[in-house]
Amino acid sequence: MSHPFQAENRFADGAQYIAGQLRPGTSGREHAVVDPATGDPVFTYELAGTADVDAAVEAAAQAFPGWAGATPGERSDAMHRFASVLAEQADAFADAESLQCGKPIKLSAEFDVPGTVDNASFFAGAARHLEGKSAGEYSGDHTSYIRREPIGVVGSIAPWNYPLQMAAWKVLPAIAAGNTIVLKPAELTPFTSLMFAQAATEAGIPDGVVNIVSGAGRDAGEHLVGHPDVAMTSFTGSTGVGKRVAEIATGTVKRLHLELGGKAPFVVFDDADLEAAVHGAVAGALINTGQDCTAATRAYVQRPLYDAFVAGVADLMATVRLGDPFDPATDLGPLISHTQRDRVAGFVERARSYATVVTGGEAPQGDLAKGAYYRPTLVTGATQDSEIVQSEIFGPVLVVLPFDSDDEGIALANDTPYGLAASAWSRDVYRTGRATREIKAGCVWVNDHIPILSEMPHGGYKASGFGKDMSAYSFEEYTQVKHVMFDNTAVVRKDWHRTVFGDR
Ligand code: NAD
Repeated sequence: MSHPFQAENRFADGAQYIAGQLRPGTSGREHAVVDPATGDPVFTYELAGTADVDAAVEAAAQAFPGWAGATPGERSDAMHRFASVLAEQADAFADAESLQCGKPIKLSAEFDVPGTVDNASFFAGAARHLEGKSAGEYSGDHTSYIRREPIGVVGSIAPWNYPLQMAAWKVLPAIAAGNTIVLKPAELTPFTSLMFAQAATEAGIPDGVVNIVSGAGRDAGEHLVGHPDVAMTSFTGSTGVGKRVAEIATGTVKRLHLELGGKAPFVVFDDADLEAAVHGAVAGALINTGQDCTAATRAYVQRPLYDAFVAGVADLMATVRLGDPFDPATDLGPLISHTQRDRVAGFVERARSYATVVTGGEAPQGDLAKGAYYRPTLVTGATQDSEIVQSEIFGPVLVVLPFDSDDEGIALANDTPYGLAASAWSRDVYRTGRATREIKAGCVWVNDHIPILSEMPHGGYKASGFGKDMSAYSFEEYTQVKHVMFDNTAVVRKDWHRTVFGDR
């Protein structure tokens, strides 16, 4: 399989981006980025060590006063230029994302990259809309008002499943609000985060505002979270690592934002449009080879539709084309790595003892055998408390279970530790209305599953974390609220002083 992105040329100076320059890491440890479609290494770089994290935080701290002191209009102008540079380089971003992740090129080019450009445009506009809620004479003798101020240096950590969009979701609201940032992408997928930071520089965003440390979680990641000069940690990744990040962040009393794992339910009531639900389930389960925190993973189908739904999903899954990520006809690429593929296969193999694998459940042979591919997989007959229903698999695997009453369907949807996203399928507005109220998740779609918008928040309930990405809600998370109170009386001895000394 050939690919058009030459990482060796693009990152010849190294895979760390600090103060507007690429440079090599200094950890003494190398990491090979592997093309998941072939298993071949495509680029080797020296990982960031703690000294690189220190240098990046220092660069961000030095850039902070100037960037925070720019007017909202100046920041907005720079970010509009940033959006334009990203759009001009759309093809290169799509190629790099597909190479490092194994994503089908149509997904990178039509979802990841345009979504990122749109995010940049949205936050360029948002930069000019930072408002305090009120100003007024609440005590009679004083005027109070609210300032919203940037927090300082933000330290962000991102996963490998959507490296470009994760960089956008972390960097854009932070810098729109006047913060500076050090982002650590997953070590498997540094390319598009580095290109994103380079594009910021090309757009005229000052050196040090956006820095990238490409390093491992245990050293570079933990050092960034614990760094005393980092004022906020924004983490996206698994719930297990999120707990560790929370422990470390607590030690330095940082603001914390956690976007963690998911296990999204897909609830089909018996009056749903069956064909629409079948198509929605296959698309929702297989997007990004199932490596999507909001992917449809557990379909609950009311008994009258259950058999037809299972048959429809199995038939449609059989039409999905696995192949070279750079072939425009490819629907499903490999998983991110052979390790991840084997992990997914492990869930399915263990499930064979208590459930039925209706279709899939194997890696393809032939031309694709070298890559980390896994066939779309449909599992039925599992119980609600089984591993395959309760755990995040992060692969192209959909489990379908029947339910009888609406009460039961909603209860089952809520019965995992996660609460990131969900969908409800019905033609009855009262049924779907109830589902939207009672399902505990940060997003509930009705008669669709997956679409996201720059204007709307993305974030979890329960073990899926707290805090929001995208939208004005995320923008506000990257600011702190200050109450300013002016005395209006010019009185020397104020009435309240007698509670401390003297009489009235
Ligand atoms: P992960 O938790 O293994 O790693 C995420 C990031 O954390 C990586 O950059 C990794 O290097 C770093 N890391 C690992 N150990 C660390 C430590 N001890 N201290 C600091 N950083 C550390 O997750 P992953 O496998 O890269 O990504 C998949 C997970 O991400 C899934 O659970 C998925 O649901 C979740 N995810 C969530 C969202 C969301 O918005 N809620 C979005 C995308 C992915």
